[in-house]
Amino acid sequence: MEISGEKIRNKALGLGFSFCGFAKAGPLEKERTFLTSYLQRKKNAGLHYLERDPEKRTDPRLVVEGTRTVIGLLLNYFPQEILPEEDNFIISKYAYGKDYHDVLKEKTRALVLFLNDEYGPVAAKAFIDRGPVLEKAWARECGLGWTGKNTLLINPSKGSFHFIAIILTDLVIGPDIPEPDHCGNCSLCMESCPTGALENPYELDPSKCLSYLTIEEKATIPEEFRDTFHGRIYGCDICQDACPYNRFAVPHDLPDFLPGKELSSYRKKDWQNLTEEQFDFLFNGSAVHRMGYEKLIRNIRYVSRVTRHA
Ligand code: SF4
Ligand code: SF4
Repeated sequence: MEISGEKIRNKALGLGFSFCGFAKAGPLEKERTFLTSYLQRKKNAGLHYLERDPEKRTDPRLVVEGTRTVIGLLLNYFPQEILPEEDNFIISKYAYGKDYHDVLKEKTRALVLFLNDEYGPVAAKAFIDRGPVLEKAWARECGLGWTGKNTLLINPSKGSFHFIAIILTDLVIGPDIPEPDHCGNCSLCMESCPTGALENPYELDPSKCLSYLTIEEKATIPEEFRDTFHGRIYGCDICQDACPYNRFAVPHDLPDFLPGKELSSYRKKDWQNLTEEQFDFLFNGSAVHRMGYEKLIRNIRYVSRVTRHA
């Protein structure tokens, strides 16, 4: 029997999620075609996980048997204040505070408990940036936004600075209407990208993306990009900052996502002298910590031409 999603949506908003929507689980044909071509053209750089389970990746019913509905959830992380950029290096807004995986895990766990209390027993499994689930495509199907030319999910009323969580459930919930594409003739994100990683609309070339190069790249960062980093040592927000829909972004009110005093006070010379102990202290419980000290130091040296460890 199909149930209305309103009670679940209200609970999700009460838990602090910014948006919640529902979609009928099934194959994502357009994404399957795109993913096949993307992989054939070897556009995924070092993102080898995309090569695993392409069938599963485009059909959540193969990920969790019995899935009938996809629940899409967004959590706003747009900061109240941008960390100072003068005499400083830049880290992406999403990494200012506590690791979003932990914050979202807690909130999705509470929502799953609610589903069981209300409709139980319910099969419901949450996915946060892990597992073979195309989060952005499902968030779109759930009516939470569209995938912009910068390949990010754009919510029409609040922009793109959101984390996405997905819950796969065997509950049958009335679906929302997928959001249509509102990019139109705009191409500001593509024009703003300093490296040409968005040469083709709706397609990211990770091998040129500063976000990939600073966080995922395991090897040395190619010399050709040195003049494009402009002090970025973790992630890149340029194509989001350029998007006109982010004029509607409102600051979050989550203490978990606020930067610590220490991080706010850091300037170039502090980064350049960062010890492993300081790194552990500064990024304890943060997504940056997952990257490891050595990689951050590599990035700091890359943007500042420091040869401290040479
Ligand atoms: S994150 Fe930065 S480098 Fe990557 S596509 Fe966007 S603007 Fe380009
Ligand atoms: S900058 Fe323009 S083209 Fe790019 S995602 Fe935003 S609306 Fe779409």
